[in-house]
Amino acid sequence: MVADHPLSVETLAVKGTSPHYDEGSAVQPIYQTSTFLFQGEVGYENVRYTRCNNGPNHMALSAHIAALENTEAAMVASSGMAAISTALLAFLQAGDHLLMQNTCYGGTYDFVTKNLPAWKISHSLIDASQPNTWKAALKPSTKIIYVESLCNPSSDVPDLQAVVSFAKANSLMSFIDNTFASPVLCRPADLGFDIVLESATKYMGGHSDLIAGSYAGSKRNVQKILQLHNHMGGSLDPNSIFLIQRGLKTLPLRVHQACSNALALAELLQKQPQVDTVRYAGLRDHRDHRLVQKYFGGHAGGVFCFDLKGSLEDGQTFLHALKIPLLAPSLGSVETLITQPALTSHAGLTPDEMQAAGIKDGTIRVAVGIEHADDLIADFKQALSAIDKAKVHSNGIA
Ligand SMILES: *Cc1c(COP(=O)(O)O)cnc(C)c1O
Repeated sequence: MVADHPLSVETLAVKGTSPHYDEGSAVQPIYQTSTFLFQGEVGYENVRYTRCNNGPNHMALSAHIAALENTEAAMVASSGMAAISTALLAFLQAGDHLLMQNTCYGGTYDFVTKNLPAWKISHSLIDASQPNTWKAALKPSTKIIYVESLCNPSSDVPDLQAVVSFAKANSLMSFIDNTFASPVLCRPADLGFDIVLESATKYMGGHSDLIAGSYAGSKRNVQKILQLHNHMGGSLDPNSIFLIQRGLKTLPLRVHQACSNALALAELLQKQPQVDTVRYAGLRDHRDHRLVQKYFGGHAGGVFCFDLKGSLEDGQTFLHALKIPLLAPSLGSVETLITQPALTSHAGLTPDEMQAAGIKDGTIRVAVGIEHADDLIADFKQALSAIDKAKVHSNGIA
């Protein structure tokens, strides 16, 4: 706040919570220590120990994230999955049930569908685009509704207000994984979500050089997760905290550049003869474009998928002809990352499962970085023409 004016996410990202660091250092030093000298703390939970997430690095970054998410409190964890699994377990017990969006991130999906049953916690999958179907999935034991602000590979956006209203009307907690949008495009707590989760490995860190996660919400809810987190032990190391603090300062710049690059590339690909469909909520003809305007200021993030008309091999020809992107999974980094899901993340699925997941042989997933859009466009164009050249070649014409 400056006078009555709330600070924008751009300023909060740079400023953090402006603590005064030791020795007048302009950035926070890394306290590379497992333990802290005893200073007469009363009670086990007050003793400072790095696993207990209460050293200066943890305190500073969690306050910074809470400021960005506009929540009372937050905490970082050793991965996005550590944040997600710990947060869910903190609020669920044997006999409970949760509703989960059917297109959630693979790790979360597997945790809920394969691991939680061992704790006797059951689930029902919901179609986030059909709020009128959610009621039928409710049980007396339902405790949580869990969604993602933006999903892969279809670039789906749930009606976030409908999720919060449904949760309130049915006394559920609302959880949201905000990784693909980041706090730059969306602050779900402002809409009333109880728990906001991020894989900080992605946009927050932003440089493909660390694994981390975060959870944010009211003081009471964050404290409840933290109590379990300290015992599950998925605590983030001080070095990675330093890298995230550094990454956060450029988070808004990077997210905006990735969004505009993604839109430029998606619009280009839509017009190419080798491309069937482009799935990006930033495009006007996408089903959820209206929700992107409503909730994300019109920006749809840096990730989209498109379907090449051709085969698995055409996809490989295209990928290997590209000169700028790295052929790697993940997203939210400065460099463009690209994969062919049928051969990587979704390999091994049956044709039916593949279809249900929205993956075709020629589907390409692009997680756009912050390179210059003109360079990416030129590179994608030449790689598409490499498919045509390879065809001519194999037909023996050339
Ligand atoms: C990557 C990712 C996760 C898991 O994060 P890790 O840091 O890899 O554990 C969770 N949700 C979404 C949407 C992701 O993209």
